[in-house]
Amino acid sequence: MNHILDDLAGLLAWCAEHGQPGWRAEAISRWLLQRRVTSFTDMTDLPKGIRSALEDDFTIWSTKIAKHDTSMDGTEKLLLELSDSQRIECVLLREQDRRTVCISSQVGCAMGCVFCASGLDGVIRNLTTGEILEQLLRLALLLPETERISHIVVMGMGEPLANLDRLLPALARAQSADGLGISQRRITISTVGLPQAMDRLTSDNSGYQLAVSLHAADDTLRTRLVPVNSSIGVAEVLAAADRYWEASGRRLTFEYVLLGSVNDSPEHARKLVRLLGKRAALVNVIPYNPVMGLPFREPSKGAVEGFLDVLQSHGMNVQVRKRKGSRIDAACGQLRRLAAGSPVPPKAAEALQSFT
Ligand code: SAH
Repeated sequence: MNHILDDLAGLLAWCAEHGQPGWRAEAISRWLLQRRVTSFTDMTDLPKGIRSALEDDFTIWSTKIAKHDTSMDGTEKLLLELSDSQRIECVLLREQDRRTVCISSQVGCAMGCVFCASGLDGVIRNLTTGEILEQLLRLALLLPETERISHIVVMGMGEPLANLDRLLPALARAQSADGLGISQRRITISTVGLPQAMDRLTSDNSGYQLAVSLHAADDTLRTRLVPVNSSIGVAEVLAAADRYWEASGRRLTFEYVLLGSVNDSPEHARKLVRLLGKRAALVNVIPYNPVMGLPFREPSKGAVEGFLDVLQSHGMNVQVRKRKGSRIDAACGQLRRLAAGSPVPPKAAEALQSFT
């Protein structure tokens, strides 16, 4: 059975084969993405024969909800089980009039950032376009009918730029008028910083917000924290980010996870200021969200304040990422591991000793 969300473009041909006009494909897409129906039967303005033909050929859902947590601040987190029993996480965040969803792009992650729960077992596979879209639908269904998803951040499990072929068609649907109608400027893709893929976005003239995970201002420390940096280097990452900025006009965001006593001193902050120089960038400072079994700590309150002071006194735009839904949070990727009963693999724990 085909997952309809994985080939919405193919619906046009399907409609032709079933003697239906082309606009039906658009109507079906609207039913799914805008009117949030959960079955073909509910597509009440389609001829009955077409509804049952759709039912014969397609399934709407490829995932099951394995866990659904809600926290006091309104944050909801879903652990979804995919058709091959792999699990991914996605989150709905409520903030004033914003309804932001955070979605995953891969099962696991190959980037190996040493403080992150998502990559502890490496990458298992890319998510399909349908699986990426389905996260949006599952989260949209948590909202009352009067509310819509306003923002998307691709900051869940995985490295989105390592799966652009499947991510971009999903985001195109998220934007389109017969999709979710969310403008590109409200969609943020977070990347570890893969220059080739960043250049692809640049030459596509894409207008997504790009957030680059820097976490350190020099190659020695960055390579320890973000191992893929060893073959790329901070200078290349920044050059690719600059090219994106020039082409898109979108303000760049640099993410910086503050790890207690690792990269959180005023000197680290000064290095970051020197590195970013006059760029009109936003620095998104993220106090570490501890991962069970990993030897990293949250930064102290004083360290966070000291770090911010340095950035702000140099006129940088800074935003501290508030932790949302911390009780259910279990840093991204952790929920999946906990549910699977697997804490830190011994090898990773060993490799990390140097940080303690
Ligand atoms: N692969 C993408 C998306 C990762 S998740 C990227 O590297 O940007 C989004 C951000 O959360 C990244 O900056 C990532 O480094 C950070 N992150 C991962 N684990 C974290 C944790 N336990 N606490 C705080 N931030 C974390």
